[in-house]
Amino acid sequence: MTHAIVIGSGIGGLAAAIRLARRGIHVHVYEASEKPGGKVSERHFDGFRFDAGPSLFTMPDLVFELLDDDLRFPLDRLEVITQYFYPDGTQLAAYSDVQKMAEEVETKLNVPATKVISYLQKASTVYDLTADLFIFGSFHRLKNLMNLKSLKTLLNFRRLQAFRSLHDFNTRELGEKRLVQLFDRYATYNGSDPYQTPATLSVISHLEHNLGAFIPEGGMFRITDSLVKQALRLGVEFHLAQPVRKVVAENGRAKGVWLDSGFVPADIVVSDVDIHRFYSSLMPDLKRLTKIEKEERSSSALIFYWGMKGTFPELDVHNIFFSSDYKDEFRHLFQLKEACDDPTVYIYISSKYTKADAPEGCENWFVMVNAPADTGQNWAEFVAQSRNNIVEKLERMLKRKLSDFIISEEILSPPEIAKQTGSVNGSIYGSSSNSRYASFNRHANFRSDIQGLYFVGGSVHPGGGIPLCLSSARIVDGLIQEQLLKLKQ
Ligand SMILES: Cc1cc2nc3c(=O)[nH]c(=O)nc-3n(C[C@H](O)[C@H](O)[C@H](O)COP(=O)(O)OP(=O)(O)OC[C@H]3O[C@@H](n4cnc5c(N)ncnc54)[C@H](O)[C@@H]3O)c2cc1C
Repeated sequence: MTHAIVIGSGIGGLAAAIRLARRGIHVHVYEASEKPGGKVSERHFDGFRFDAGPSLFTMPDLVFELLDDDLRFPLDRLEVITQYFYPDGTQLAAYSDVQKMAEEVETKLNVPATKVISYLQKASTVYDLTADLFIFGSFHRLKNLMNLKSLKTLLNFRRLQAFRSLHDFNTRELGEKRLVQLFDRYATYNGSDPYQTPATLSVISHLEHNLGAFIPEGGMFRITDSLVKQALRLGVEFHLAQPVRKVVAENGRAKGVWLDSGFVPADIVVSDVDIHRFYSSLMPDLKRLTKIEKEERSSSALIFYWGMKGTFPELDVHNIFFSSDYKDEFRHLFQLKEACDDPTVYIYISSKYTKADAPEGCENWFVMVNAPADTGQNWAEFVAQSRNNIVEKLERMLKRKLSDFIISEEILSPPEIAKQTGSVNGSIYGSSSNSRYASFNRHANFRSDIQGLYFVGGSVHPGGGIPLCLSSARIVDGLIQEQLLKLKQ
């Protein structure tokens, strides 16, 4: 029987474990933390439940294809994806239905509905041209480049808008400042800067608007919970609070891993660890580390989990309070690496959908601002300054005194994200996509010089976010299937 070790039980690691176990491979998952799930975790305090990390769920089929029927959880497609609040008092509901969204934009921002429809059609074309090669496939293998679909992508490269920034593209296509800001925001979905990232990232708006944004009943943690149950059912063995210290390869083959308790042999090793950490400590390799460091780290986040006594009918599940100067906000995030006086504030309230997440008459507010990667800032000062800025901004825009409502609080800052999930500098998505070549420079899901060693998760190809991490596991599964077939021949 083939033995596999998966290092880390983030979404990528869990998906890989399930896929390998379904192939009859005996899988052991070693996880440094005391709980599985990595960033997709939850918090409970003072009668409130919070999703601790991700809040927006797209492409749920990528989760459901891993689960037996009885483990698939109920979920709904959101009718209003996000409520947007602008500093000038404009409020805009981003409807899931494209026609309705376009009409809302026409009414509230005075931009012809056709502009939004045409923009989302272009985003859909980018998806069609890139999905097979850049999202669900691995262009790191020559054979994947030598087929008709890939040829079509390469011939249409101009339409991917890879040579202009997302902000420039949005300005040209949409014109109106507030609408541009709305579509620029998608760069933050993989921790990047819309003023630098290639316009190919408009594809993210396609996932949200054309394919839909979903909410699981019981919150995002249902994803982790169901994947763990599925893995256990397939015989996957979890070893929690057991960090892997070293990965061993000899003569071009993965051999196993070192734990504090000793060496564990394996035929296959799949790493779900931030690739920077992998090459700085698990398999030290200065050359590869230097290459990874050439790409700027992605942004991190600062989150306040607030138990609120009272309800806010004007808010929805997802809410954004935009800054008045978006460019300056990203300058603070990526160049100055400091707190910004007027940050864009995101509020996720799962109790609007799952009532049990907050006591009667209360709401659970997950309040997040983008934060720079941890480069040694004074975080106590950063947190205090940001909290003041956020409270002042929300009080001004919501016209209510928030301190009267906040009855419980916990905080998650970039150094804690790093500590809890092993993400170097607290960067949520590994490297950012702030350069034109970023997606080509992401580490592949395999090593051509070491058989049996594979990589999944948000810091490697195809990138961060739940759907892409799940895709990395699907790619790895395909590669392992090929390896097993070769061994049988
Ligand atoms: C605040 C926040 C908001 C987000 N919002 C969204 C969102 O709305 N939608 C979305 O799709 N995505 C979102 N994301 C991103 C998404 O959560 C991640 O891309 C995804 O969950 C990462 O999964 P992963 O497989 O890379 O593993 P991770 O979650 O990074 O987990 C890696 C695991 O490996 C373990 N580990 C590390 N080193 C070792 C070792 N040496 N030995 C053993 N185990 C080890 C860690 O403890 C951890 O459990 C968000 C993330 C955060 C933090």
